[in-house]
Amino acid sequence: MANPQIPAGSATQPPMWAEAEYVVARRDAAMPDYCIKCGEPATGPKVPLTLVWSGKSMLGSPFRGGAAGRVGGVASYLAARQTATLQVALCPRHRLSRRTGLIVGAVAIVFGLGLMIFGWNDRTHVPKVIGILAIIVGALAPMATPQVIEADYIDDHYVRLKGVCPRLHDSLPTSAEPAPQ
Ligand SMILES: [Zn+2]
Repeated sequence: MANPQIPAGSATQPPMWAEAEYVVARRDAAMPDYCIKCGEPATGPKVPLTLVWSGKSMLGSPFRGGAAGRVGGVASYLAARQTATLQVALCPRHRLSRRTGLIVGAVAIVFGLGLMIFGWNDRTHVPKVIGILAIIVGALAPMATPQVIEADYIDDHYVRLKGVCPRLHDSLPTSAEPAPQ
């Protein structure tokens, strides 16, 4: 999980910076008080947003250059997927969309269980089969629903975010200097 240690050479790096259309943040970087997705005022306390990264990056690893970086990129592609949880502020609209997958999934599971219970003795087995399918769909829905923002890269220290509001992106320094080895 989160490692408080920061890699050598990155001590001078700010906690967050802009890289092309992405935002790179230290896992422990303080997120802004406005909605991370659209920049609108947020309501309520910050919420945990769990990001999943499959190991496929648009830019490659930002923290290792050259041939070693390419090898590292392939290795990380093959490695197990990474997750990171950031505490972010969200406006009411994106607060709701964050939960859409969970709500859809819960409804599908309840629907499927109901079909199985009430259709258990049906000789055609149709209610049972549809019930099981609905439960499977319900279980997968939260994972299949796009996140409010997505990760393009995750390691022990950093997360590269996709879909962050321009208000945050444009307020950050850009990574003009070469990435530390
Ligand atoms: Zn928003």
